[in-house]
Amino acid sequence: MTVLVFLDPAFPSGRVADASVPQLLATDLGATRGDGVFESMLAVDGKPRKVSMHLDRMAASAAALELAFPAPGQWEPAISTALAEFGRVHGEPQAVVKLILTRGPEGADQPTAWVQASPVPASAARQREAGLDVLLLDRGYDSTVAEHAPWLLLGSKTLSYAVNMAAIRYAREHGADDVIFTSSDGKVLEGPTSTVVLATVQNGTKTLLTPELESGILPGTTQGALFQAAENAGWQLGYGPLEPTHLHQADGVWLVSSIRLLAPVKSINAEPIAVSPALTAELAALVETVL
Ligand code: PLP
Repeated sequence: MTVLVFLDPAFPSGRVADASVPQLLATDLGATRGDGVFESMLAVDGKPRKVSMHLDRMAASAAALELAFPAPGQWEPAISTALAEFGRVHGEPQAVVKLILTRGPEGADQPTAWVQASPVPASAARQREAGLDVLLLDRGYDSTVAEHAPWLLLGSKTLSYAVNMAAIRYAREHGADDVIFTSSDGKVLEGPTSTVVLATVQNGTKTLLTPELESGILPGTTQGALFQAAENAGWQLGYGPLEPTHLHQADGVWLVSSIRLLAPVKSINAEPIAVSPALTAELAALVETVL
């Protein structure tokens, strides 16, 4: 059962609501237009991970949509209430915490904001352990479009994820598990719900690489935290541009995100690539150090 807590000025710790009955007006622009922003984060033992990174990114997404963003002091108590309620109902150590902010009901000029806490799907651990077969799919934009077409909202985490979900369904219908989007000029971008990270090890020098943000990708909080921890541990860091050949030449490729954490890529377009359980274990341990 999902736990819902609405941000509501009359309830300083958030208003707990019943997820099994309707809670939104049918005219809410989040529902009718996907006009809003969201975040998904992992909570362990009742504590959300990287909460300030998620709130900062959500504030940036809201600014891109010209949406008033409730202060962290409003979100944080609602997150605590949701996790306390989740712990009471489920007793599971881990939860997915979603923060959602919409433009609100048509004509109301009043955003709707709520926190959701739900169990971590079993697929997260399964994919982390079994790895992923991935298809490269063209996103249809070139890698400079974010700069000259800001209305596309590339790099913002909007509620309009229908395209991302369609890409994952396309991959599944074609025998794969997930997707790496490429730009129309052939650059590696991101997964529909993840950041692409690759590692190379040469003459004892270990390097982590990820596509550059300027190509219109979401700044991943897991990638950001991993890179920080890796740099402290002596890794070199690099930021794109990357092309599919870099994925084939790497010593390991992962799709990284807050809930699934680090999922190793096993094949790209049905062609096997290098998989390193040792590197996966090393990077997974680094991700665990960031709370
Ligand atoms: N890129 C996209 C498009 C995403 O939707 C997500 C997360 O859902 C990510 C990257 C990974 O972000 P994070 O590591 O902050 O979960």
